[in-house]
Amino acid sequence: MRHPFPTPALALALALALALALPPSSASADEPRFGIVVHGGAGTISREKLTPELEQQYRETLDAAMGAGYAVLEGGGSSLDAVEVTLVILEDSPLFNAGKGAVFTNAGTNEMDASIMDGATGAAGAVGGVTRIRNPIRAARAVMARTRHVLLVGPGADHFAEEAGLELEPPEYFRTDRRWEQLQRAIEREGIELDHGSDTPDAPPATDKHGTVGAVALDREGNLAAATSTGGLTNKRWGRVGDSPIVGAGTYANNDTCAVSCTGHGEYFIREAAAHSVSARMEFAGQSLADAAAAVIGEQLDPIGGTGGLIALDRELNVAMPYNTGGMYRGLYLSDGRREVRIWED
Ligand code: ASP
Repeated sequence: MRHPFPTPALALALALALALALPPSSASADEPRFGIVVHGGAGTISREKLTPELEQQYRETLDAAMGAGYAVLEGGGSSLDAVEVTLVILEDSPLFNAGKGAVFTNAGTNEMDASIMDGATGAAGAVGGVTRIRNPIRAARAVMARTRHVLLVGPGADHFAEEAGLELEPPEYFRTDRRWEQLQRAIEREGIELDHGSDTPDAPPATDKHGTVGAVALDREGNLAAATSTGGLTNKRWGRVGDSPIVGAGTYANNDTCAVSCTGHGEYFIREAAAHSVSARMEFAGQSLADAAAAVIGEQLDPIGGTGGLIALDRELNVAMPYNTGGMYRGLYLSDGRREVRIWED
């Protein structure tokens, strides 16, 4: 049989040259790009305290949650559906500080916050201080889709969810022993002070709590979405609400720039309008996603003592996941073949 190339060595060299000249097949220009990025909170996350079994559970749950979101996107579903599906799985897991496993208030109750935003339309929905809704992210989505409002709080928001036909749970459902013990330790340590230390910016941040969940996604249509859900801070009082249900602080999405979900000491993220700042830096200062995200953490939050992190995604499938704490539970699953879960830098 006649060989198409003069020598096998030359054939190999040609094939190699061709392979180097072409972009990877999965990144071909006409294939739609899509993907999902997820976080499970930022904090100290000491390697000593996280047993190998628990570490594996965190990794597997994050991977399963973003896998479910990715499947929605792969099947042509919307980025809004993808972030919602992902967060429902994380809310249902007792590992994370959202839904079941939410942290306790000083009064021994669970008060949860969540928000979602559609990058295509700018529509958003959120709930704050809800106590009965199994999946607060579903309630946030319902506020966006079924009301003229953006943010509903307290018993009214619980009532709305009931009227909307969402699943409700008794208080015991949200309780886990781990979070209850955290509350007892926080009360001993801080008395009536809020978790994360006092309110003064120079107080040492107690960044050992984590578990807020968030996701950002890009669908095949090129639409971005962002969502965040949390139980807030252990030992919180007085109806305290953090950044997670505040559009522009804990969550933001805009097809012209990026989708962002934050986690950390919420008061600082509110003051800096952290999630929107990433978008504004891209839009008004022409910064890249990576530079904008890094600057929000490094130049806006760091100097005022704000601890935490964020995940951000743009329509080019660029991803940024900066944080200034010891670690951040996070993962990405993208149509260009990247799939990973990380807790620390390595
Ligand atoms: N950002 C959340 C809050 O302040 C808490 C967290 O992300 O750990 O309520």
